[in-house]
Amino acid sequence: TKVQRLGLRTLRGEKAWEERAADIMPGGVNSPVRAWNGVGGHPLPIASAKGATITDGAGREYLDLVDSWGAGIVGHAHPQVVAAVRAAASRGLSFGATTEAEVELAELIRERYEPAQKVRLVSTGTEATMTALRIARAATGRDVIIKFAGCYHGHSDGLLVAAGSGLATSGVPDSAGVTASVAKDTMVLPYGDVDALTDAFAEHGSRIAAVITEAVPANMGVVAPPAGFHRLVSELCRNEGAVFIVDEVLSGFRAGPAGGWGLERDADIAAGREPWTPDLVTFGKVIGGGLPVAAVAGRADLMDQLAPVGAVYQAGTLSGNPVAVAAGLTTMRLLDDDAYTHLDRISTRLRTGVSAELDAAGITHAVGHAGTLFSVFLGLDKAPVTFDEVSDQDALAYSDMFHSFRSSGIALPPSAYEAWFVSLAHTDEHVTRIVEAVKTWGGREAK
Ligand code: PLP
Repeated sequence: TKVQRLGLRTLRGEKAWEERAADIMPGGVNSPVRAWNGVGGHPLPIASAKGATITDGAGREYLDLVDSWGAGIVGHAHPQVVAAVRAAASRGLSFGATTEAEVELAELIRERYEPAQKVRLVSTGTEATMTALRIARAATGRDVIIKFAGCYHGHSDGLLVAAGSGLATSGVPDSAGVTASVAKDTMVLPYGDVDALTDAFAEHGSRIAAVITEAVPANMGVVAPPAGFHRLVSELCRNEGAVFIVDEVLSGFRAGPAGGWGLERDADIAAGREPWTPDLVTFGKVIGGGLPVAAVAGRADLMDQLAPVGAVYQAGTLSGNPVAVAAGLTTMRLLDDDAYTHLDRISTRLRTGVSAELDAAGITHAVGHAGTLFSVFLGLDKAPVTFDEVSDQDALAYSDMFHSFRSSGIALPPSAYEAWFVSLAHTDEHVTRIVEAVKTWGGREAK
């Protein structure tokens, strides 16, 4: 509308920001999903965010269910996080040398996630998974990586690969610019497919350096790992001398206090089973509390492959940056038992409340969830496991719901393939508002 556009123009009446953005940045964005291609329409720039609320350049407030794609777990601009960042910044923005706070953050990660025996901090999840693969290849002297269709591990070449459905087909690049020679070392299997995995190991076991999976797949919507699946991966890797890499960039310290792995560990202990353990783990998002911190961690002997101890090179000018680490450390400290109880209660109320309202409106749907992570699949009557099953969802109906929610002042993720993120700032009253928004929408375009 005119009012919105006026709000977005500079006082001197220059071009609207969208035009300037499209002119200077490919697609007008610095990361593709921000362009709303999955739901259509035009995103407004964000001006600020506080607690559970995000405010756009036209001054409109939305209840935020994106939370910076999971990083904002304690709520936006949490006063303690902001104070820690200010204090760190005033001591110096970057030194290119080790600080005590980095050691503390790494120790805190290990304290809460025992398989993280040693930790290296990096700046992005992409770097973390890329480095994990390099360590696995160096340690095994093998080339082949197994990943699962629908799991996202960042944008390094070897991980931007999907494949035909054939078992153990050589990978086909999923992005232009990834060479066939890189892609051929990535084998893509259907998520949760025990037979495909067992066959791949039977046929190619001695060539497999690593299996990488999301601890809770959450980049195709949220998919609960089938019972026993990770245990099987772990056993196959151990028997064949391959490395099991568990990607907790999204789920780490979010799905539960010890991520997706912790949920399974607790279930195993409760059932009297010995828990399985990942060899390498990657973290991101939450451990940076909204600033760029990620990590690769795991078995000490594997981590000691990294330079300067071992021969695997990895480095970063801004790795372990003191301001970013201050945000991460403060965020992690805020995540105590009470915090997880709150996240669990709010996310449970939200997913069950939304589902009940969709049922009441006669809208076919399924909810995928593990711990505090969940997403809603419209048009499916059972929670999906594979990417093919996920792809049967009604993405058009999601887009309609997304825009209706915006009109109700609620910001859903701008894609049907993403998790709905809650934070410590989300309250029972917010849950009620979101459930009301389902009623307001009423499923106009849903099957
Ligand atoms: N791994 C997982 C599971 C992720 O969800 C993401 C990002 O969404 C990444 C890796 C890549 O992290 P980054 O965007 O920080 O490079």
